[in-house]
Amino acid sequence: MTSPVLLWFRFDLRLADNAAVEAAKRSGRPVVPVFILDDDSPDRWRLGSASRWWLAGSLGSLAASLAKRGSRLILRRGEAGRALAELIGETGAMDIVCNRVHEPWAVARDERIAAGLAARGVTFRALESQLLFPPETMPGPKGNGYRVFTAFWKAAIAKSAPTAPSAAPKSLAAPDAWPASESLDDWSLRPTSPDWAGGLRDAWSPGEAGARERLDAFLDVFTEYARERDRPDHPGTSRLSPHLRFGEIGPRQIWHAVAMRAASEGQEAAAAPYLRQLVWREFSYDLLSRFPVLPEKPLQELFGRFPWARDGDSLRAWQRGVTGYPMVDAGMRELWATGWMHNRVRMIVASFLVKHLLQPWTAGEAWFWDTLVDADLANNSASWQWIAGCGADAAPYFRIFNPVLQGEKFDPKGDYVRRWVPELAKLPTPLIHKPWAAKPLELADAGIRLDETYPRPVV
Ligand code: FAD
Repeated sequence: MTSPVLLWFRFDLRLADNAAVEAAKRSGRPVVPVFILDDDSPDRWRLGSASRWWLAGSLGSLAASLAKRGSRLILRRGEAGRALAELIGETGAMDIVCNRVHEPWAVARDERIAAGLAARGVTFRALESQLLFPPETMPGPKGNGYRVFTAFWKAAIAKSAPTAPSAAPKSLAAPDAWPASESLDDWSLRPTSPDWAGGLRDAWSPGEAGARERLDAFLDVFTEYARERDRPDHPGTSRLSPHLRFGEIGPRQIWHAVAMRAASEGQEAAAAPYLRQLVWREFSYDLLSRFPVLPEKPLQELFGRFPWARDGDSLRAWQRGVTGYPMVDAGMRELWATGWMHNRVRMIVASFLVKHLLQPWTAGEAWFWDTLVDADLANNSASWQWIAGCGADAAPYFRIFNPVLQGEKFDPKGDYVRRWVPELAKLPTPLIHKPWAAKPLELADAGIRLDETYPRPVV
């Protein structure tokens, strides 16, 4: 019996342009693809509710793609080192291949696993498929990385362009006997609230095919990105974030597709603003790997002593989208309904929580972690620190987003607010971002009773 290779999927749930899949295929040996739901190792950063919903769809899709290639996806639950040891015992595998994950808890776990396996003579290889510019390739001028995004971006684009992505293999050799697999249904990843799951289902198609469809749709409009990306009332961004987070598509595939389309249309300049955003993601990962405390502690230590208000009522009003500020409420309700929120609105709601309500940024980070389908430890923690003004290259702490002016600028007709806060839909546009300024007759005409149908501002 030929000993198989264990192909361990993590946040790389795709077959195309996947370094670990290619390495397993190249080995010429039978391949046992496996996913382990490890809720033990991440401690408080175990997947949140929306991410678990996404994971269920993504694993279903990956299993179907593997089945088409004569293979299977073996599912196991529990601490990953233990689960792998069991699989090694059951299959006789002497080689484990996977792609790197950069979350500090996962790095520490992988180091433990690699050391344990080496002692048993089993090879553990972790390849790079998640990032274009992993930390070791971005040493910075003094060898300790970058604190400023612009310098990181300049260094990134000075490198040679990412190479062309590879296609998914047509087949993967099956082992003589398959180890047992748990059933996805037994993992109860989907939320028990049917309303919530319904909203997520309507908005998304988790999986590699869904990611490709999103990318293809975006390629038709990417030339408008620079103009449209700040408009939550328009579908101007790619919405690839949850697909990227779960690795259903890799950054190289996106980069390459956008760059190729831009070149074929003579629109190279139009590609840059989008590629720049992709590099923000790389920058977040770079920060997380250099500062593993990023999700928990302010990078600027002075902010560790900030006297937060820690008021449960304010936090709940924000979470439920009933702060009385239409732009904030629209964003928080979009998040609840779809598991996603437009970037401009993320900045507005985050600033509001931290700077108007004086709630700790970590409380907002935790809510996003639970409710975003793209909840990503690096992007989420770096962005919250940026907004709070305590991170690297952060917005200054005294800069406060004004939710009314931001609304008037980026949702000028109020379409976004009308969609997510329908009780305000009939307000005339000049009042849509500040209903408290309406005269009693204007409120009555719009069917609004402040404090009854819509709250007065909490601050
Ligand atoms: P596009 O505009 O189409 O951008 C393409 C990709 O580039 C995104 O999918 C994302 O991977 C990356 N990107 C874009 N903007 C940023 C950014 N500012 N920082 C880092 N990467 C970026 N993004 C997450 O993926 N997960 C999170 O948990 C997350 N939490 C956030 C929390 C706050 C408070 C803020 C202000 C931003 C957060 N972001 C997060 C960044 C950003 O809002 C989302 O990446 C973006 O809205 C996703 O939509 P999109 O795919 O249409 O983006």
